[in-house]
Amino acid sequence: MTYIGRFAPSPTGALHAGSLVAALASWLDARAHGGVWLLRIEDVDTPRCVPGADHEILRQLAACGLHADEPPVWQSARAAHYQQALDALAAAGRAYPCACSRKDIAAAQAAAGLQRERHAELPYPGTCRPERSGLAGRTARAWRLHTGDSARIDWTDRRLGAQQQDVASAVGDVVLRRADGLWAYQLAVVVDDAAQGITHVVRGEDLADNTPRQILLQRALGVPTPVYLHTPLVLAADGCKLSKQNGAAPLDLTDPLAALRAAGTVLGLPPLPGTALPDWLASAVAAWPWRASVA
Ligand code: GLU
Repeated sequence: MTYIGRFAPSPTGALHAGSLVAALASWLDARAHGGVWLLRIEDVDTPRCVPGADHEILRQLAACGLHADEPPVWQSARAAHYQQALDALAAAGRAYPCACSRKDIAAAQAAAGLQRERHAELPYPGTCRPERSGLAGRTARAWRLHTGDSARIDWTDRRLGAQQQDVASAVGDVVLRRADGLWAYQLAVVVDDAAQGITHVVRGEDLADNTPRQILLQRALGVPTPVYLHTPLVLAADGCKLSKQNGAAPLDLTDPLAALRAAGTVLGLPPLPGTALPDWLASAVAAWPWRASVA
């Protein structure tokens, strides 16, 4: 079996206990399947990136013994590839420019009788679709994927099981290029997973609800869909996913093994022997519980 996996951190800060879980899970899954493990620095959302965080993350991974098989890729160097994908989608009638501001969108949603349920975002009402008003002389701000009127995606996660979402009604036409000119995560991740030949995506469960959008985009671009495994999250004291915003401390590199042991527990690894980093990592590969579930 060909196995190419990756860890794709956004350099918005150093790794913490939560992001180490995703890093370790993707590394273990690749190693347990005799696969390749790649690193991709997802620095497209420049306002959120912290200078130097990319190199700090690479240092932290190395200190934990998690070494990539190829030099890392930075998304900031890949704009031409995102543009090419957007051009291809536009030429195929699957992407269109959108002039709506947040205010326009809210007004159109209200006019369409859409009501916000709990914290869920409302879908974009499709105002600028070419078959509706189009730009109508207004200036394009963003680019969107035309989802069509229904876009039901059925997919299976190795841990969460059968999943489904109608992207058209849940999200609406997905933003591909943002109004501020930056490439959207959804487009960049799909283009790069395809370009790097990623066969298996292992990442935190907070990203699971992005997967149907990514599969829809993969189909629109005619690229393969990887196998997905979304890992448990580390929760902060407030019950939310651990993040810098709710006080996650950067990993303590004076004792990388302790950090790895804690991440291993979240991933369902039993207590493992090994007091040296390479021994512990080797026992973790041998004990990796997700081995049998690769499609
Ligand atoms: N860059 C994303 C993040 O750090 C992860 C993207 C992915 O694994 O697909 O949240």
